[in-house]
Amino acid sequence: MNECIVSGWGLTNPVSVRQSFPKSIEDLENLINSAHPKSIITRGLGRSYGDAAQLEKANVVRMDNFSFIDLKIEKNEVTTGSGISFDKLLNYIIPKGFFIPVSPGTRYVTVGGAIASDVHGKNHHVDGSFGNHVKSILILNGNGELQRLNKSSPREIERKQFWATIGGMGLTGVIIEATFELIPIETSLINLFTRNFENIDLLLEAMIEADKEYRYSVAWIDSLHPNLRGILSCGDHALLTDINGKNKKNPLEKIQDHNTKAPNYFPRGLMNNFTIKIFNEGWYRKSITAKKHNIETIGKFFYPLDAIKNWNRIYGSDGFVQYQFAIPDKKVELILDFLRKLQDNKIPNFLPVLKRFGDFKNGHLSFPIKGWTLATDIPANYEIAMELLDDFDEKIVDAGGRIYLSKDARQKKETFKKTYERYSEWKQIKNEMDKNNIFSSSLAERLEL
Ligand SMILES: Cc1cc2nc3c(=O)[nH]c(=O)nc-3n(C[C@H](O)[C@H](O)[C@H](O)COP(=O)(O)OP(=O)(O)OC[C@H]3O[C@@H](n4cnc5c(N)ncnc54)[C@H](O)[C@@H]3O)c2cc1C
Repeated sequence: MNECIVSGWGLTNPVSVRQSFPKSIEDLENLINSAHPKSIITRGLGRSYGDAAQLEKANVVRMDNFSFIDLKIEKNEVTTGSGISFDKLLNYIIPKGFFIPVSPGTRYVTVGGAIASDVHGKNHHVDGSFGNHVKSILILNGNGELQRLNKSSPREIERKQFWATIGGMGLTGVIIEATFELIPIETSLINLFTRNFENIDLLLEAMIEADKEYRYSVAWIDSLHPNLRGILSCGDHALLTDINGKNKKNPLEKIQDHNTKAPNYFPRGLMNNFTIKIFNEGWYRKSITAKKHNIETIGKFFYPLDAIKNWNRIYGSDGFVQYQFAIPDKKVELILDFLRKLQDNKIPNFLPVLKRFGDFKNGHLSFPIKGWTLATDIPANYEIAMELLDDFDEKIVDAGGRIYLSKDARQKKETFKKTYERYSEWKQIKNEMDKNNIFSSSLAERLEL
């Protein structure tokens, strides 16, 4: 056990914790059986932006020693330890012709973290979120019971506990291992289609059309531009017949490691409207001159931010907040409303990203609802921005939307309870799986989860 300070990826709200690295299920059982109420939370690679994987003075359980990979090629599925990172998993399965069913925008997350957040990717409109592809989970619940939760179990209670754990933010127990489906691929390349749009209305229209044609789609918006112009990137896994030249030599190449490291210190206020405007202009122009159809590596398409290790430090020691909301299709005007409010109040915000959500079965606390999701990074030291977000939360509530728990560092419990309408049902299951409420987190405390 070691004492240290941890925070989310946004670097706000650091807390001091004790970290433990159990080596066996027996070690874990000992930890859980001797735990007090609200004293344990599991932590993956700490890529949730807010306060989900931490709790002041608590025991933070790291599953680094649970990192096996058991690939079942003939079934297109894999069983892994919960502590394995997507990075290690991908570099094992890609050369064997497989890709993960859903990927967030970084490969430095663990399987346990991906399940507990029920992460979504650029393919939600086609494939749903990660939980939709999980077949079974081995979990040690808060009562110290080892449970194998199968999605297709004939027992209703088991199915309920399964879905309460998918997106359950680590509060039903420690996920030890999981079995999930994989996508067979012929190459580790993406057939990419990129288009610039001079205003947001055209971009939104094109994105709805892209739902029908492409497995993956994502849009970046130049939120400082008067027309809110943007770039739409869509793609599919490239087939062997799509590639030629040097790509043919090793079509299932591993992902290249990042080689750039951000400095430890960045001046406060570096991310301001001036610097972001320069970046946005360059980004938009680069895309205009680039080819519309291209073959791109999985690394560059899915994980552009992973190219710079610890890029989160560019916001300085105050850190940043990632505000990500989901809204139903019919409330699309809120995207414009939100971005205009940021503009009118001159609030710097970086890399706003828009994705589409499809209609899929979800965990009780899973984030996606059919429609749109927008995420953007805002420096945490802009007081006026935080006030604006509080006001905007009200609009999200009225629109029937919600804020993503894995990105959240600031929403109020009232907002959460009004927007995650299956919360009470989830809480009942959590109370059964963790009778003494030993699992908690700063997020859980703040939102009374
Ligand atoms: C650059 C970047 C891009 C991202 N893009 C996306 C995206 O596109 N889509 C998306 O959905 N998310 C995205 N995320 C968020 C990220 O995918 C999630 O927060 C994910 O849960 C992080 O995984 P982790 O292993 O770091 O978990 P942590 O951040 O350490 O923990 C997240 C939650 O999982 C729980 N947990 C972790 N391991 C276990 C376990 N073994 N058992 C039980 N509970 C556990 C923790 O208690 C916590 O509640 C992004 C994050 C970054 C930094």
